[in-house]
Amino acid sequence: MNTRRNTWSRRRFAAAGLLLAMLAACGAERPPPPSILVIVVDSLHAGHVSSHGYARPTTPNFDRFAADGVQFLRAFSQSSWTLPSTASLFTGLTQEQHALRTFDDRLPADVPTLAERLKSAGYRTRAVVQTPVLASRHGLSRGFERYQLFDHSLESVERALKLAREHWDEAADRPLFLYVHLAPPHMPYQPPAPFAARFGDEHPDVSGSVADCRRIHRAKLAPDAPQVRSLVARYDEHIAFADACIGRLLADFQRDARGRAAWIVWTSDHGEAFLQHGSQGHNATVYDEMLHVPLAFGALNTPLAPRRVNDVVSTLDVAPTVLALCGLPPLNDAGASLHSTLLRGAALPERTLFFSSRYKADAAVLHCAVRRGDFKLAQLGPDGPLELYDLRTDPEERSNLAAARGEFALELAELLARERGAARASEAHAAPQAADREQLAELGYGGD
Ligand SMILES: [Zn+2]
Repeated sequence: MNTRRNTWSRRRFAAAGLLLAMLAACGAERPPPPSILVIVVDSLHAGHVSSHGYARPTTPNFDRFAADGVQFLRAFSQSSWTLPSTASLFTGLTQEQHALRTFDDRLPADVPTLAERLKSAGYRTRAVVQTPVLASRHGLSRGFERYQLFDHSLESVERALKLAREHWDEAADRPLFLYVHLAPPHMPYQPPAPFAARFGDEHPDVSGSVADCRRIHRAKLAPDAPQVRSLVARYDEHIAFADACIGRLLADFQRDARGRAAWIVWTSDHGEAFLQHGSQGHNATVYDEMLHVPLAFGALNTPLAPRRVNDVVSTLDVAPTVLALCGLPPLNDAGASLHSTLLRGAALPERTLFFSSRYKADAAVLHCAVRRGDFKLAQLGPDGPLELYDLRTDPEERSNLAAARGEFALELAELLARERGAARASEAHAAPQAADREQLAELGYGGD
């Protein structure tokens, strides 16, 4: 061993110790923790994102953000609609573990949230939420010092973005945890100019309204029917609008960063289906068009290792990752921290992920899936047939291999049954009132 180096090291440590003592005396012994910004655009299926290979230029801002940061190309939401999937994002638990499954449920009081943990660590906690689905009666506002709900109108997009900027500007003295949830591209797919009609008008009768979505869903048209293709065009235009809004917001954050360190997460709460498996919209199945979401991490004034990651990850991983980046322990062990990948490009171990969706309390409509490597086993309802897909050769989940690979399907089915059996009962009720129901109906909730 090199003695000179050891001596130098000891001297260096002694000098560093002195410096730390001096900094501690000045109250500046370590850099402040990074601010955390979590951006969710509602209902964005990764398959419609340009940097995922989509042909239309829907997401230039997300693509730039992702190229400068770490983009997870195979990220999956735990559930297929806003309420349970957002609960999973902020608790790191599956839908059946956190028990916030329907409009009548409230997050159980003993389930800790990311906002609570960051608030107790000294963070200023703010939420700007542009959807009535996430009303505070469901308990997801817990831990946020301010939780501002906006309706889903286009006017509210600008009001929500303005408030998000104000939160960013006010928070220079303390680290900030800011959650921004933008309604677009959630239906109705009706963005303002210059986004409207940008991608063609094959079927002028299809305006992208909720009524159009319902009509097309009920008609069970083929995915390549002209009406469906037009609806997809309206959805893509709404994506481009959401992308531009967040692009402007992030440009403002960057311009006004004033040297503050921050991590930014940009994702969606679930995907959106266009009749690939008989449904239009979301909150129905556990096929990938409803679960595959964009997920990218960016950083301001803090180093990261830019890359595109093909490992399969879950939105359950966001909370433990954020906490690890802040030097805090995870809330639980359901998800996995991705911080080593962000900081050093470390590979992730292969995972077994569980997905679930039920729009109603009735367990008879509980749809579940489990994914291991490239294989996914799905079961719609507890008595539905087992569906096994090889996603490498069959990414659209069309060719059921359950009969051909019976033993493997049963092995995955056992995992599915175990997860289903571990479901926590709902403990509290937070049923929406008449005015809430009206707003929810305008977004397509209720009915079939
Ligand atoms: Zn949603």
